[in-house]
Amino acid sequence: MHVQEADKKYIISTYNRFPVTIVSGKGSIAVDENGKKYIDMGSGIGVTSFGYCDNIWQDAIKAQISLVQHTSNLYYTEPCTKLAELLIEKTGMSKVFFSNSGAEANECAIKAARKYASEKKGKDCYNIITLWNGFHGRTLTTLAATGQEHYHELFQPLTSGFKHVHVGDLYELKSVAQPNTTAAIMIECIQGEGGVNVVPQNYVQAIADYCKENDILLIVDEVQAGNGRTGEFYSYMNYGIQPDIVSTAKGLAGGLPMGATLFGEKVKDIFAFGDHGSTFGGNPVAAAAAVSIVKRIDQKLLREVKTKGQFVKDFFKDDPDIEQISGMGLMIGIKPKNKTAAEVVKQCMENGVLCLTAKDKVRLLPALNIPLDNLKSALEVIKQSLATSKQR
Ligand SMILES: *Cc1c(COP(=O)(O)O)cnc(C)c1O
Repeated sequence: MHVQEADKKYIISTYNRFPVTIVSGKGSIAVDENGKKYIDMGSGIGVTSFGYCDNIWQDAIKAQISLVQHTSNLYYTEPCTKLAELLIEKTGMSKVFFSNSGAEANECAIKAARKYASEKKGKDCYNIITLWNGFHGRTLTTLAATGQEHYHELFQPLTSGFKHVHVGDLYELKSVAQPNTTAAIMIECIQGEGGVNVVPQNYVQAIADYCKENDILLIVDEVQAGNGRTGEFYSYMNYGIQPDIVSTAKGLAGGLPMGATLFGEKVKDIFAFGDHGSTFGGNPVAAAAAVSIVKRIDQKLLREVKTKGQFVKDFFKDDPDIEQISGMGLMIGIKPKNKTAAEVVKQCMENGVLCLTAKDKVRLLPALNIPLDNLKSALEVIKQSLATSKQR
């Protein structure tokens, strides 16, 4: 049976897939079953940090998979220790918990915040405040954290104790986030799924200050914006703040499932034996892959990400078919003027470029090391696709 027919027959239809079957890839080029090549401007939703089947990444996995692929967390293994050390070095956080996805990384952050607040401020202090339009995952708890009601409707009751506030409204934030009932404020500095919205600097800074003054934990969700994506190692570093807890996943292991929750000094000892766990968390192969990725996200690469991001913005400057362009580094949202984002993405695909959408925007999350010629070719195709057919 053909892949696409078999998929429709046997796999739960939660994904409205494009009629494309990807069979291989190298660097920023994906190849479908008919041999058609695409420049990938989505990286599997910001996951394949160094593109498809990158040699260094592959070698790291091959080396680890011929030593040990899994041991459970009953024993020590080297790769996750190495990875933890690297993450601590790069962030100034204190300790790490490893899991397998963004939702799990956030669950861990939420559990930690609840325990900290209940011990420090009492049993009634459990609320987690998040931003409308944010996205934190698909489990019942991370859905509750996600400030987008259309995701909630069919799955009530969700985990209680979550409240959402509007980006930029500090007055609302302070009235909702009462110090005696609020365990944490959890934000994305750049809302990815919500439309690549850069949360304003002064608002983020004010949240950080408010958290500090009131012993409310600041959790920053770096699942999408992290690991070099915005031209800093984590997106919060663009803001000059220091969160208490950071969650990350997507690009961390370059294409293998891995999540991490980073704990700052205040909360580093909050969990005791048995408080949290994961069978696969810290898997040696995923961790070895992540070590190979994180090591390469150095100042030179970060500068390159910023330069390429600016290149994209300059390329589209004054484009009459664009309403607005947003984002940071290689996390970019383009709001088309004359078409829907979905129409643009479809046309791009037909013309050999894979893009994503985020709400009413075309979202670009290319590999951090996308070659400049691939980037330029992709931008030409996107530009054409943004133009109305009349103008073409
Ligand atoms: C994708 C995403 C998640 C969820 O990650 P999964 O790995 O799909 O569970 C959480 N937060 C943000 C900001 C994301 O972009």
